[in-house]
Amino acid sequence: MNRLQHKVAIVTGAAGGLGESIARLFVQEGGKVLATDIQFDKLSTWVQQERENGATIECLQHDVTSESDWQKVVEKAIECYGKIDILVNNAGIYKPLETTETTGLDRWNQIIGINLTSAFLGAKAVLKYLKHSGAGSIVNISSIAGIVGGNGAAYSASKAGMRLLTKDQAIEFAPFNIRVNSIHPGGILTPMTESILPQDVALRADMMKAMCPLGRIGDPVEIARGALFLASDEASYVTGAALVMDGGLSAR
Ligand code: NAP
Repeated sequence: MNRLQHKVAIVTGAAGGLGESIARLFVQEGGKVLATDIQFDKLSTWVQQERENGATIECLQHDVTSESDWQKVVEKAIECYGKIDILVNNAGIYKPLETTETTGLDRWNQIIGINLTSAFLGAKAVLKYLKHSGAGSIVNISSIAGIVGGNGAAYSASKAGMRLLTKDQAIEFAPFNIRVNSIHPGGILTPMTESILPQDVALRADMMKAMCPLGRIGDPVEIARGALFLASDEASYVTGAALVMDGGLSAR
């Protein structure tokens, strides 16, 4: 409890899946959260419930590819909480089987825009506020697709780009005591993966057993705990790190 007391966090892509789980854990740990997503109705439904239960959380519709939307997000965070300490760049898109051959330039640009350029825009938008807070943390939700190939050209490029964006900004921002780290989840059960995985529960379990040394799909909260550690002062000497959280999937 209270590992994020007095901290203000922005979490993107928080309407469901990993972003929702991260935002919920952050408020449980005493953080003040601004949760954003392009899907405002879905986002505001659970945020409203959290507020009714006493959490300090606000939400805003936000397209992470829009620089003007990012300005609105930082303005809202400052208006509501007076400062920003933490940014979690989580929003992303993925579809299986998007190869170089089948991906058109528009789709390539869309995936790179939402999964990678968004993190650049987000860091630019919050930088002056993190400098002001004196101990900032940026957590970029990449993927094991940013480490090993086989998940589609644009998705892999976007997630690998995020890994090195993280390391570069870790060096650039270190003089301001702003830490930047990436998380690389494997297969986690979220709305993104629910539709991709076999609907048959036994088949799904067999597939995960075959793919993953821990033999099961991950729960969003297992990734949220990694984000909490990196966001909190417990990770005060951790920057430029790539935290793999994949049940051993990429260890083979
Ligand atoms: P999710 O359930 O689809 O959640 C992602 C959220 O981001 C959705 O609400 C999505 O809205 C939103 N989003 C899409 N485009 C956006 C935009 N332009 N601006 C703002 N929000 C936007 O996915 P998830 O599984 O939680 O994934 C979260 C992150 O983890 C992603 O970056 C993903 O690549 C990464 N990841 C996930 C897994 C996994 O197994 N689940 C593994 C490795 C990495 P729409 O529904 O409209 O798209």
